[in-house]
Amino acid sequence: MKYFITTYGCQMNVHESEKIAGMLVDIGYESASSVEDADVIVFNTCCIRDTAEKRAYGNIGALKSLKRANPDKIIAVVGCMTQQKGGAEALSLKFPFVDIILGTNSLDKLPILVQDKRSRRASIAVSEDPTVDLGLELPIYRTSGTNAWINIMYGCNNFCTYCIVPYVRGRERSRSISDVIRDVKQVLSEGYKEITLLGQNVDSYGNDLKDGTSFAALLKEISSLPGKFRLRFMTSHPKDFSREVVDVIAASRNICHNIHLPIQSGSNEILRRMNRKYTVEQYLEIVDYIKEKMPDVGITSDIMIGFPGETEEDFLSTCDLVRKVRFSNAFTFVYSPRKGTPAANMEQIPADIKKSRITRLVNLQNDITKELSDEYLGKVYEILVEDVNPKYPGTVCGRTDSGRLVTIKGETSLIGSFIDVKITKSRSASLFGEILSKGE
Ligand code: SF4
Repeated sequence: MKYFITTYGCQMNVHESEKIAGMLVDIGYESASSVEDADVIVFNTCCIRDTAEKRAYGNIGALKSLKRANPDKIIAVVGCMTQQKGGAEALSLKFPFVDIILGTNSLDKLPILVQDKRSRRASIAVSEDPTVDLGLELPIYRTSGTNAWINIMYGCNNFCTYCIVPYVRGRERSRSISDVIRDVKQVLSEGYKEITLLGQNVDSYGNDLKDGTSFAALLKEISSLPGKFRLRFMTSHPKDFSREVVDVIAASRNICHNIHLPIQSGSNEILRRMNRKYTVEQYLEIVDYIKEKMPDVGITSDIMIGFPGETEEDFLSTCDLVRKVRFSNAFTFVYSPRKGTPAANMEQIPADIKKSRITRLVNLQNDITKELSDEYLGKVYEILVEDVNPKYPGTVCGRTDSGRLVTIKGETSLIGSFIDVKITKSRSASLFGEILSKGE
């Protein structure tokens, strides 16, 4: 029996798909190469962006004829889209051929519903209890190569006015340090060379435990574990990203100097309307501190264009900020309203203005990324080889500590090892190099 999972959205969802796979492997399923080949087809959805939601709707709809021809195939839709208010019912009406609909808080019901045909029929399970932990003890079938994702917390308390996450994922719940450390030790013993700690707002890790636990303390403890490995984390919130965390990273031997710090806008008025709870000045202050402690850092960001009320002046302030910080890369995107969030009821900006602004911002960031790439030329960096680069046959690729992707000529046997490379060529965000020495 085989399963096929389609995942939409962020790394949190990619990791949740590893848990879905883990549960299915546990009951005897193995991975299929296509939906045609699968007995169970799972869509792990995301509702944070309009595009992900539309793609999911299109892909689920496309399975109608496959299900008609093979009624025994089980189709399950899980994740954020189903957890939204009314989302599960809307899905079930639109796609009556879907067998199982599970919310983010009910994923653990998947194996029983897959195995038991009677309880499966038109099954919808969406728990609205925001305190439920999202399957902390679920088996995990890891698919991410050299990197192991580990959730340290779930949910978010921030209620940014454009974001649906707190409504579908509930309030912040931190896992205990001992549980996280146990998982970290486990993946290190399995040979993983890189660990990425996951949470919607990792910097507020521990606040809800009320026992003095902090993100800085967690980082320190993991980083002191024996063995050669890299530690990354995402996502940070500028209002909570503390100097203490910066100090821990700077003093460690293995926490990567690669910080993802979403600014969203360079205008204080727009940040206020977004309910981000920091100012541009506060953001720049922490960035200056990061750069002072780690001159080799790669700072990346999320930047949103076209939030309701954004004037040309606000947009130009964002461009100014981008010039000041010089992000090594940025995920730039156009605001789109999410039903159920406050910003969806604000007056929206015309599409042509958004289009013009995003083009200008992307060009600006691309120029900066290229300039920063050129600074790597001729220097030597340690990279962790992660995979082959399918664009260039006969090559493998990996990241520098600062998060830059480097492609080198090499065998797949290098995957999972640390090697020193000299950067010989840069192309926009991509770097190319040659091997100097093989490490561990
Ligand atoms: S911090 Fe804001 S954008 Fe991030 S998940 Fe929480 S509400 Fe959403």
